[in-house]
Amino acid sequence: MINKIEHIGIAVTDLKKSEDLFEKLLGKKPYKKEEVASEGVVTSFFKIGNQKIELLKGNNSGSPIQKFIEKRKEGVHHIALHVDSIQKEVERLENLGFEFISTTPKKGADNKMIVFLNPKTTNGVLVELCEDI
Ligand code: ZN
Repeated sequence: MINKIEHIGIAVTDLKKSEDLFEKLLGKKPYKKEEVASEGVVTSFFKIGNQKIELLKGNNSGSPIQKFIEKRKEGVHHIALHVDSIQKEVERLENLGFEFISTTPKKGADNKMIVFLNPKTTNGVLVELCEDI
């Protein structure tokens, strides 16, 4: 089952500058900063109610975030949906014709296992499914 929007990921080029900007915008400090080596990113999280904003900065030129910024500039990168079971949702969505970048869950930031759908099958929007570890 898909429970809620867990977070919105925003690609940025200067994490410190963006943290300051979102701190002003939201009136609160990020509660967590975390490097996700598997994705080549450094992340910074803000909580708004039950949802989060995840700032993402690529930490090497080969990182997907760096490539995204080169192509599309800074901005909304993905929408993450919280699910009870990635495995069940992958099965359900594949049966409906959705494609995944990879169906093998990886460890994401903030204690989550994650997979991404192929944006070609989701109106150009990168959708992440995440499950609590
Ligand atoms: Zn995310």
